[in-house]
Amino acid sequence: MRICRFNDDRIGIVRDNRIQDVTDVLNALPAVRYPLPRHDLLIANLDLFRSLPWDVESEIALEDVKLLSPVANPGKLIAAPVNYEAHLQEAIADEATFSRAHVRRIQETGLFLKATSSLIGADGPIEIRHADRRTDHEVELAVVIGRTCRDVPRDEALSCVAGYAIGLDITIRGPEERSLRKSLDTYSVLGPWLVTADEFDHPSGHDLALSVDGESRQIANTRDLVMDVEALIAFASSFYTLHPGDVLFTGTPEGVGPIAPGQTIEASISGVGTMRVGVVAA
Ligand code: MN
Repeated sequence: MRICRFNDDRIGIVRDNRIQDVTDVLNALPAVRYPLPRHDLLIANLDLFRSLPWDVESEIALEDVKLLSPVANPGKLIAAPVNYEAHLQEAIADEATFSRAHVRRIQETGLFLKATSSLIGADGPIEIRHADRRTDHEVELAVVIGRTCRDVPRDEALSCVAGYAIGLDITIRGPEERSLRKSLDTYSVLGPWLVTADEFDHPSGHDLALSVDGESRQIANTRDLVMDVEALIAFASSFYTLHPGDVLFTGTPEGVGPIAPGQTIEASISGVGTMRVGVVAA
């Protein structure tokens, strides 16, 4: 199932190029009161979608909606730095724009967090700030956690996954901590929808591609992840309790490059789809 959030927080199921508006599913969510849970309420209750009818009368054309992040209230955006060997070599070679202190193997660096306030959906747009600095695109397989878990063994890791999406980890290059340079408003893109785990093949073996204004920049496959999805979940959950709706950006392959206002990013992952994200000046 492909689940999206669109327009003014409506919920939809995507089939081909059509959306079934199933916003009424929100009425079935459990009542919550202050303090609100740390998880995303809808992702924690994805089973509600199993019993929905397909009502063809409420179909909307995908092109007519504004796609928001399929996860509205993630507790955490966890991200893997330099998780493809070829990107590590690229980063080491580019001394002008990369800080050597940050270019280490993921086993040494560990993970980092992006601010949840940076999250937007496919129809963004990405709003460039600090225009005097170099800002890069990074396409990544994004994993959305489906249940509360910690200290997850590798062989149980995929049972913790609600689904998958395309992630863009937009990044200002420079010496500051990643959590600062990658957390500007609009610098985390998740979309175009959530593909539930039951409809996504094993997360290894998926093609990723990113182009800017039609120019190919990144082409890779998730089989080349240094630390694969199971290892990332095991590692992350040995530090943080993971909650439904937490998003794990699994790292970007080689080919990162600058973006500027006026450009359009097209990103694809096999088994998810394609999204086009505009870039504007803030
Ligand atoms: Mn990244």
